[in-house]
Amino acid sequence: MTLDELSTATGGTVIRPGDPDWDAARRFHSGIGEPAAVIRVSSVDDVRGALRYAAAERLEILVRSGGHSAWGTLPGGLTIDISALADVTVDGTRVRVGGGAHWGDVARTLARHGLGISSGDTASVGVGGLTLGGGIGWMVRAWGLAADQLVGAQVVTARGEVVEVSESSHPDLLWALRGGGGNFGVVTRFDFEAHPLDGVVFATLGIDGDVRTALRMVRDVLAAAPRELTVTYMDVPAMDPSAPAGASLTAVWIGTDEQAARTALAPLLDAPGISVRELGVKSYPDVLLEVPEFDPEQPMPGFVGGNTLLHDLDEGTIDALVSFHEQNPASVLFLRSLGGAFGDVAQDATPFPARDATWFAMAGAFDIPGMLDDARRADILAAWDAIEARGAGVYGNFTTSTDRSWVQRMYPPETMARLAAVKREWDPANLFCRNHNVVPA
Ligand SMILES: Cc1cc2nc3c(=O)[nH]c(=O)nc-3n(C[C@H](O)[C@H](O)[C@H](O)COP(=O)(O)OP(=O)(O)OC[C@H]3O[C@@H](n4cnc5c(N)ncnc54)[C@H](O)[C@@H]3O)c2cc1C
Repeated sequence: MTLDELSTATGGTVIRPGDPDWDAARRFHSGIGEPAAVIRVSSVDDVRGALRYAAAERLEILVRSGGHSAWGTLPGGLTIDISALADVTVDGTRVRVGGGAHWGDVARTLARHGLGISSGDTASVGVGGLTLGGGIGWMVRAWGLAADQLVGAQVVTARGEVVEVSESSHPDLLWALRGGGGNFGVVTRFDFEAHPLDGVVFATLGIDGDVRTALRMVRDVLAAAPRELTVTYMDVPAMDPSAPAGASLTAVWIGTDEQAARTALAPLLDAPGISVRELGVKSYPDVLLEVPEFDPEQPMPGFVGGNTLLHDLDEGTIDALVSFHEQNPASVLFLRSLGGAFGDVAQDATPFPARDATWFAMAGAFDIPGMLDDARRADILAAWDAIEARGAGVYGNFTTSTDRSWVQRMYPPETMARLAAVKREWDPANLFCRNHNVVPA
């Protein structure tokens, strides 16, 4: 079958190099991809046609949902753009979401029904990539990962079969979809169990005083806080548009009880060196961030660092993280509180690592051309590796590559063995390999 025949045989639109839409079709949040071709599908049958074509032509598959992964720019292969599969339907607390929907669409629909789902923080991020990798968001302590609310899915497999997945139908595949990445087929529909939500209390606090002292205080407050509260600490340079420059704390409290949120945050609200920039009730969709699209005129700098799930935010770890940031002025330090519902989930219930972690940390220096040389890069990576050695696992969705060395750090051996067995059953030829690849075994 040729690409023309693929286009005719499916309702999908095939876009090739030189076509007017080519640049738009291969644009990801992190840059411009270099696939052999892109097919924009609009139905489950289109997905089946695209998979048949890729299998026959021995083309590797890249599934594009929200386009926010750092690996969408890999060269070659067929990109299957499923962003048109974006319906969101609500039936009681059961929410069915098209595999290509964005979290902003989901949050807006759910808000009209007085519901919420633990998602990511950014409106344009895809439900697909975020959920399949786990999904750490502003409700992680209240309701766990996005993947923890996944109760079913419709999957088009490498063989082109359409499979309904749930706790009672192919439970091993459901297990693998809750954090095992895009290894097992194209998920054309995600089924979530949502929670009643009439709004959230949202607070932003500026940190002008000593950041080590502030982090100790934040850690102690969270150790005693109800699970309704999730906080994020960020320290970013002025060049980063994702947050106000400098150190700040963002807090989300599930529900509209502002007094309860104030009580949980009280030691921080009264602390010297910490100032309240914003505190009040918002709708959940209004809390989701909007980030600028990739601008080819201003390519994103590289990122030298990593992430880790921490059992404890102890003194040594606070010092190592803050020192990393101090020694690299053009760097980001991000911390998100865990525990609560995240920790209620049994370790073997999902592939996600380190359920006993109480904090998630990410830090990295921007690799701006002319600013870092190889020796400096190596020093920064060594400093990061020493921090990661304090942790209990790596979160794949916050890595910048799909290099095998990352995959080995993401899943402990027993989880990897279980993922590999599921992979062997559903994708023995490893058609879905352009991700944090689980090799069939
Ligand atoms: C600005 C920004 C903010 C972010 N915020 C958060 C956050 O708050 N919390 C968090 O946990 N992560 C966050 N992330 C990381 C995010 O989870 C990953 O980048 C994720 O891969 C994005 O998913 P996507 O669908 O947008 O990306 P895509 O690049 O479209 O997809 C990523 C991969 O997921 C797989 N995939 C996607 N959809 C499907 C599907 N339907 N079926 C099969 N495979 C599929 C494919 O393997 C694909 O390569 C953020 C990233 C960015 C850039």
